[in-house]
Amino acid sequence: MITRRLFCGCVAGALSFAATAVHAQSNDCAVFTPDRQKSISPDHAIARLKAGNERFAAGKSINCDLMAQVKQTASGQSPYAAIVGCIDSRVPPELVFDQRIGDVFCARVAGNIANTDIIGSLEYSTKVSGAKAIVVLGHNSCGAIKSAVDNVKLGNITALLKNFQPALATLNKADGHRDSHNDALVQKVAEANARLTAASLTKRSPIIKALVDARELRIAAAMHDIKTGAVTWLA
Ligand SMILES: [Zn+2]
Repeated sequence: MITRRLFCGCVAGALSFAATAVHAQSNDCAVFTPDRQKSISPDHAIARLKAGNERFAAGKSINCDLMAQVKQTASGQSPYAAIVGCIDSRVPPELVFDQRIGDVFCARVAGNIANTDIIGSLEYSTKVSGAKAIVVLGHNSCGAIKSAVDNVKLGNITALLKNFQPALATLNKADGHRDSHNDALVQKVAEANARLTAASLTKRSPIIKALVDARELRIAAAMHDIKTGAVTWLA
């Protein structure tokens, strides 16, 4: 009886593991080396992130030995992409793109805006460290965007929200009442903000512009859906 119970428990555990983790293939958990980073094109970098989000949204994230990756990257890093994301706890870029140790640089700030410090970080990620793509990742139901829509005044948040003025300026009468309960309006501002942030990078950084012009770097804007886990890529 005891044997049978143990056996049944073991089988149940194995089944539940199989349902929640995808066993890594031989190359899936390989860390990025300088040579591997160089071999990736900007288009390939975006394609890797797209594929990673498709795995995440399908519940098929790859299960790697993270401590092995910690040891393998201890002597240096060669990430292939950089992501500018929101601080929102539901949108951790490494998880939603199914990336691991040493794969991507990640800058997070409420509402995924780009100021001097973020752009400097992106110049480091690309020009200095060789990343081939930058993704500005917005998301639906963003608290920062809602606060900007409602013109919230509170401490240093007031100054932060000034960064959303260009996105708010895209609104017109057809968008209806400017209120954070207007979901379509909030989504429009969030998408405009992701697009405008992405577009601002080459305008504000000659270093980033030169890399894009030389086709050594690609910049994309995308939106994460907190209800489905899926990322939609903006044109
Ligand atoms: Zn947010």
